[in-house]
Amino acid sequence: MSDCVFCKIAKGEIPSDKVYEDDKIIAFKDLNPMAPVHILFIPKEHIANASEITAENSSVIAHIFETIPKIAKEQGLDSGYRVITNCGEEAGQTVFHLHFHLIGGRCLSTQMA
Ligand code: AMP
Ligand code: ZN
Repeated sequence: MSDCVFCKIAKGEIPSDKVYEDDKIIAFKDLNPMAPVHILFIPKEHIANASEITAENSSVIAHIFETIPKIAKEQGLDSGYRVITNCGEEAGQTVFHLHFHLIGGRCLSTQMA
């Protein structure tokens, strides 16, 4: 996707405050953090959102969820954290490249939204 901002971050074409990277995924700090720790995890491959996860591409999602606890620990989120993905406009998705928000470092509301 040539006009996708997260594809550009994945390719290093635009800068990001990178926290983790390997051949399949990248994690970087959110530009507009909602909490002291707010990191986005994305597959390097373009997947628009959770509705586009299939048996063919889901191994990268497992890989993201294997990596999140390691980064949460590195970031000192020992008391807990939240992982969110917004799927579609009505859910508040603004960037249509699948991403998981890792949020923590403050007491989070018990409300989900
Ligand atoms: P969502 O509303 O779930 O689609 O989340 C998109 C998130 O991407 C928002 O929290 C934005 O602050 C964040 N964001 C957008 N552009 C960038 C960027 N270039 N670098 C880091 N975070 C970004
Ligand atoms: Zn993309």
